[in-house]
Amino acid sequence: MTEVKHGKFVMIGDFIGGAEEYAYEDTLRIHEKNGNLYASIAGFVTINPLKRTINIENPDPSLTERDIKVGDIVIGQAEFMRKFTVGLKIYLANDRNIYNDSVYGNIHISKISNSYIEKVEEAFKKTDIIRAKVIQKFGTEYELTTDGPNLGVVTSSCTICGTQMEKKGQKNVECPFCGNKGLRKLANDFF
Ligand SMILES: [Zn+2]
Repeated sequence: MTEVKHGKFVMIGDFIGGAEEYAYEDTLRIHEKNGNLYASIAGFVTINPLKRTINIENPDPSLTERDIKVGDIVIGQAEFMRKFTVGLKIYLANDRNIYNDSVYGNIHISKISNSYIEKVEEAFKKTDIIRAKVIQKFGTEYELTTDGPNLGVVTSSCTICGTQMEKKGQKNVECPFCGNKGLRKLANDFF
């Protein structure tokens, strides 16, 4: 399994590193199995390379769905690929964790980017982690946009082998392990 980088957003059960490589203190956030470390919560991986310590930052687990407003920035994972929309399960709003609730948002194809996109698959793939802005609320669902330089895919795993994809241009990503290539609407801090 590949190295997880500092700052990566992970979800419960995600591999985060080798048990022999890192020390960790918070056993509520990280668990060990067969020599590997896995996330016990959703959040951002923090690695101290000098001390070789690893943790997961979970800024505020108390946020609920009711606290999400129009204009908020959310981070979610692409779960439903449809013809004209992508459905995200939202994990964070304004850097606060909401993984305890099932909160979903949709991005319509016309709200992905300011340049024309013919198919949703030219911008997103299932399992991509996406930063988006809330533009409307319908009951417990949110309409989202990724039009903006800081919005779009923040991390992406290869759909073939699971390795973290690398940026190869403004819209291009490539798997460093198997060479799988793809197009994405990338956030400017994608890594
Ligand atoms: Zn691959």
